[in-house]
Amino acid sequence: MSGSRFVTAINCIDGRVQMPIIEWMKREYHADYVDMITEPGPNRMLAENPSDPDVISIKRRVGISVMKHASKVVAVIGHHDCAGNPVHRETQIKQIKAAVETINSWGLHVQVIGLWIDDQWAVHKIV
Ligand SMILES: [Zn+2]
Repeated sequence: MSGSRFVTAINCIDGRVQMPIIEWMKREYHADYVDMITEPGPNRMLAENPSDPDVISIKRRVGISVMKHASKVVAVIGHHDCAGNPVHRETQIKQIKAAVETINSWGLHVQVIGLWIDDQWAVHKIV
């Protein structure tokens, strides 16, 4: 890993959203690798229940990426047609914003961003 640049994504488990996020983050942040932490509908999990054991698990995994891989950017993702979070876009955007606040509260000294993936699997930066 010496010399390699890592960033971190808290993404959905959905196979359709892996490559779009990897390609977008590599391009936007000149990253070599994207550490991927997956949960079904992570934007909802992080927005609604920051003290849930599943969220603590996400936090632990993000911590490894930040500490061991020196990641400086952590993204949380919501997407169209999410089986784990089947609510409309407007609600998901609110959840993404709240999820970013949850991650910021962890005090990791990283840039936290929120991303939305639309029905064409295009990535949009929300926060
Ligand atoms: Zn999903």
